[in-house]
Amino acid sequence: MIYTIEKVTTLIGARRYGDRDANIGFILTDSRSLCFPEETLFFALKSERNDGHNYIPELYRRGVKNFVVTDVPKGYASDYPEANFLKVVNTLEALQRLAERHRDEFNIPIVGITGSNGKTMVKEWLYQLLSSSLYVTRSPRSYNSQIGVPLSVWLMTEQTQVGVFEAGISMPGEMLALRDIIQPTIAILTNIGEAHQRNFESKAEKCREKLVLFHDAQTVVYNADDEIIRNELEKVDEVLPNGEVQERLGWSLQDKKSAMFIKSIEKKETQTQIKYIYKGGEESEYVIPFIDEASVSNSIVCAIVALKLGLSAEELNKRMQQLEPIAMRLEVKVGQHGCTLINDSYNSDINSLDIALDFMNRRPDHKGCRHTLILSDIQQSGESAEQLYAEVSNLARKRGVVKFIGIGSEISAQSAQIQIAEKFFFKSVEQFIHSEVFQSLRDEVILLKGARQFGFDQITELLVQKVHETTLEVNLNAVVKNLNYYRSFMKPDTKLVCMIKADGYGAGAVEIAKTLQDHRVDYLAVAVADEGATLRRNGITSNIMIMNPEMTAFKTMFDYDLEPEVYSFRLLEALIKAAEKEGITGFPVHIKLDTGMHRLGFDPKNDMDKLIDRLKHQNAIIPRSVFSHFVGSDSDDFDEFSAKQFALFDEGSKKLQSAFEHKIIRHIDNSAGIEHFPERQLDMCRLGLGLYGINSRNNETIHNVSTLKTTILQLRNVPAGDSIGYSRKTILGKDSVIAAIPIGYADGLNRHLGNRHGYCLVNGKKAEYVGNICMDVCMIDVTGIDCKEGDSVEIFGDHLPVTVLSDILETIPYEVMTGISNRVKRIYFQD
Ligand SMILES: *Cc1c(COP(=O)(O)O)cnc(C)c1O
Repeated sequence: MIYTIEKVTTLIGARRYGDRDANIGFILTDSRSLCFPEETLFFALKSERNDGHNYIPELYRRGVKNFVVTDVPKGYASDYPEANFLKVVNTLEALQRLAERHRDEFNIPIVGITGSNGKTMVKEWLYQLLSSSLYVTRSPRSYNSQIGVPLSVWLMTEQTQVGVFEAGISMPGEMLALRDIIQPTIAILTNIGEAHQRNFESKAEKCREKLVLFHDAQTVVYNADDEIIRNELEKVDEVLPNGEVQERLGWSLQDKKSAMFIKSIEKKETQTQIKYIYKGGEESEYVIPFIDEASVSNSIVCAIVALKLGLSAEELNKRMQQLEPIAMRLEVKVGQHGCTLINDSYNSDINSLDIALDFMNRRPDHKGCRHTLILSDIQQSGESAEQLYAEVSNLARKRGVVKFIGIGSEISAQSAQIQIAEKFFFKSVEQFIHSEVFQSLRDEVILLKGARQFGFDQITELLVQKVHETTLEVNLNAVVKNLNYYRSFMKPDTKLVCMIKADGYGAGAVEIAKTLQDHRVDYLAVAVADEGATLRRNGITSNIMIMNPEMTAFKTMFDYDLEPEVYSFRLLEALIKAAEKEGITGFPVHIKLDTGMHRLGFDPKNDMDKLIDRLKHQNAIIPRSVFSHFVGSDSDDFDEFSAKQFALFDEGSKKLQSAFEHKIIRHIDNSAGIEHFPERQLDMCRLGLGLYGINSRNNETIHNVSTLKTTILQLRNVPAGDSIGYSRKTILGKDSVIAAIPIGYADGLNRHLGNRHGYCLVNGKKAEYVGNICMDVCMIDVTGIDCKEGDSVEIFGDHLPVTVLSDILETIPYEVMTGISNRVKRIYFQD
């Protein structure tokens, strides 16, 4: 829907500066996601760390003309002659107000979903169940926050027949705002779990907060077998403001009088049959192709809503059988012939396509890499096919796609709508992979987005570089969560260096750097100049620090703007000389002081005068920062030593600082320091291990980033008394089942884990390494574990912390993580 700028001004109660006419179709809160500047209204949100107002000049240059602000720029009429500024007291509240007024325009069923787990699954399944007969607008992915909910509700258009929105909260008081925006006619509480318990006093308190969503909803859906939910719900007034009585649809396995009585749940090998009586009617049943508890209870919630919205029991059963698992991941894989693959198996619809295109666009890449979109038919009812694919074309073009490959009969029929110069259409995946077009994919970033039944997996499999069956899966969301965890200890204006040396602690520096750059960290740090050059060639523009600058690599550093650390007079002289020879002036460097590690660095007591003098008598380089490194911030045992180190650093660095007019940044805290000595954060901190999810102070996982996985190659029964592997090191004490897996010491699996010293996980169960670990393969004992050839094996990761391995090996997690060899394929994903 299009709103005029006058209308928006009134709806959010703003004061308008500027008088250009404008129509608003898009809302933007993150400048990086800009797509349709002319019709965009930008909300300049303020957070602790960031202020949307800072992006106004850039956005204006890129064509955005309409802004919601708290502060109108001085001289707006001359600097922004074509703009409208809508001044409000609070921009987030204005965004929420606009969504709320937009919601008021709709007199249709709106489903609001809250709960600790399962919100996204229920939302996606309702979409799957309803969208073949109704035009459903739903929250994209898991947009369920104070910002995500208004953005989701804004997506409703004239065509929308049902809205389905998630509401997530992490603190008391948040639900009220979400409720006002969603105004659900049907409100769902999936369950109350332990997640986010931190900010709530009790489960009951959390339940009360979630039940705020139920206020004023005509119909509510909940688990009537949960005592806390039942009790808390009883305290909520049943009579609505309009005098109607709220319809309460509880589901229960015990109470025959509940609205949805579940008579039986019967699990088969791959599916579950659920028999139910809805509102005292006839006994009916449905089958879902899943057997886990969460799927069963979420399907019951969906069944209630679908029946409530008029679906017949037969139709419900038919659609339930076709439910698909929820794939939220966007995967990034290295492909053949210089291609990068971004695989998005999330349900195809136009909003999720836009998010995936935005993701592709925001990741910098090799110069010259073209952006290609491979898209299947989109299953979306409502619009005409012409309209739908014209919209797809428009989006793809705006988001930088230069090559379009459509797969499916519908998209092929609409080929005329796709206005992209290079375009190809195929009826099926089969046809595509046998084509010239497939054979000629080269140096492209390829986004694959296909509905499940099109079988895009086949394309990925053929395109991915075949290296090895062993993979390291890297969760980019977890990296961001860890970043935010450490940022929470830091003052908003403290800068941050992220250490991505040793190939991002094994996770892969390039992709980690892209993610960090997108989240605006101030510096990235790598070990050697070549690593820095690789980042630059992959489109990284952030500041980059080189921790171990080699004398042979000065030229690389100058060419790629890589700022070296300088730790000795010898290095200093060589660097000045090299810079002078190139005619370079003011090249930034970082001065390292040795305060107790006794590894590298100037002596803060004795070297400072000479250092200052030398720096003052040249203009080739300029000290941008001065730093030192703690030897034991991870343990209280060294607190006294750390204090001494800090005092030494404080003195030496202040001396350097006061000798220059420009501000020299000071930094000493590493990951453990950020948490343990937040008072020593100075101007900047250096985050390393913590970014990868390990808290070196207690060896616990924050958010796990890397999971090393492989698969079972072969299973065999081996009788008691036989030996396993080279040199007969393990003799079996009983008849056993032994699995061979394709990972060995050449992949970085330490030989000391062999002979039952360590274990991995097979289908969640511990399996010990037996025999000596070989170069490329090793053997594990899977006796008594339900498994088959081809099953996945976790070496470390989400379920087996890497610290378990490092403890067994009597080393530190850093060594295990950085030891994973290059031939192990890295796969990146984000929700
Ligand atoms: C590696 C490194 C860090 C990061 O240390 P973590 O313990 O991984 O946080 C910080 N500073 C310097 C100089 C480093 O070499």
